[in-house]
Amino acid sequence: MKRRDFIKAAGAGGLLAAGAGQAQAARGRHRWKMVTTWPKNFPGLGTGAEKLARLITNLSGGRIRVQVFGAGELVPAFEVFDAVSRGTAEMGHGAAYYWKGKNPAFQFFSTVPFGLTAQEMNGWLFHGGGLKLWREAYADFGLVPFPAGNTGVQMAGWFNKEINSLEDLKGLKMRIPGLGGEVLQRAGGTPVNLPGGELFTALKSGAIDATEWVGPYNDLAFGLYKAAKYYYYPGWHEPGTTLECIVNKKAFDALTPDLKAIVAIACQAVNEDMLAEYATRNGEALESLVNEHRVQLRRLPDGVLERLERLSETVVAELAERDAFARRVFDSYRGFRGRATRWTALSEAAYLQARG
Ligand code: CA
Repeated sequence: MKRRDFIKAAGAGGLLAAGAGQAQAARGRHRWKMVTTWPKNFPGLGTGAEKLARLITNLSGGRIRVQVFGAGELVPAFEVFDAVSRGTAEMGHGAAYYWKGKNPAFQFFSTVPFGLTAQEMNGWLFHGGGLKLWREAYADFGLVPFPAGNTGVQMAGWFNKEINSLEDLKGLKMRIPGLGGEVLQRAGGTPVNLPGGELFTALKSGAIDATEWVGPYNDLAFGLYKAAKYYYYPGWHEPGTTLECIVNKKAFDALTPDLKAIVAIACQAVNEDMLAEYATRNGEALESLVNEHRVQLRRLPDGVLERLERLSETVVAELAERDAFARRVFDSYRGFRGRATRWTALSEAAYLQARG
C-alpha cells in the first residue's frame, strides 16, 4: 500500500472507530480505559485500581466496561493526569501530589506532612468540605476526582546510614514526593520524584541515597530491603495518603444518573477496602521483613521529628500564601485538623496508648 493510501485508510478507520464509540455511548454502553501511575496489578495500589474497574463493570451490568493499563502501558506514570484531562483515557488512578506542578494546592488532597490520618482525611473529604474543594480545583482541567484508596500511615523510608539528627539528612538524595520532599529540601536534602517501578534500581545503583515508598506490604514487594539497611518509621510525611480516581468530565457527563452513582460508590468502596487491605497486609509483611530478611527497624528520634514538624508548618503555610484558592483549601484543612486533633487525642490516641 502506498503511503498516501495507507494514511487515507487509517484516517477512515479512525473515523469508523470514533463513530462506533459514539453509537455505543448513544445505546448506553461505554468502553473506558483506566490509566494508572502504578505497575500493573502492583499489590494494594494496582490491585485496587483493578478492583475498581471490576466493580464498575459488574455493578453496571457491563454498561461501563473498564480496561486497566499499568504505568507505561498506554502512557507513562506521571502523564496520567494529562491523559485523562485530554480524553486519551476516560479515567485514571494515582495520587494528587503527583500533579503539584499543575497547582501546588492539589497536594492537600493526597497528604500533608504531620497532617490528617486516613480516618481524618475521609472525614475532611466526605463531611468537612474537602471533596468539594477538590472538585472545584480539578474542574479547570476537565476532570472529576474521587477519593479511591488510602494507604494509612506510611513508613519514613529506606536509608543506608542511621539518622540521628537533622544534619544526617543534609546532602541526602532521596525519593520523596509532594510536600514531604519540600520539607527534606529545607533540611538540606535533595528530594527527587520517581515512579514506584523505578525505585529499586535507583536505590541499588546509588542514583539515590534513600527512598520512601509506602509501607511493609508494598516495600517488600519491590524488594527494597535488598538495597538499603535501615527501615525508618513513622511516615511523618505521609500520615494517611488518599489515592485518587480521576474521570474525564465529558465522559462522566455522558453517563446516566445511575451510572454516575455506580462510579461514585465503587470509588468509595475501593477507598475503604484498600485501607482494610493495608491494615491486614502491612502487619504480615512487617513480620516477613524483620524475621526472614533481617531488616533493621529504626524510629526517627524525637528531636528529628520535632524539627521536621516545624519545617513542615513553614512549608505548608507558605503554600497557603501562593494564591486565593490555596488559602481556601489551607483554611478548610487547618480548621478540620484543629477540631480533629482534639477529638483524636481523646479517642484513637488515648486508646492506643492504653492498649500499649
Ligand atoms: Ca510514599
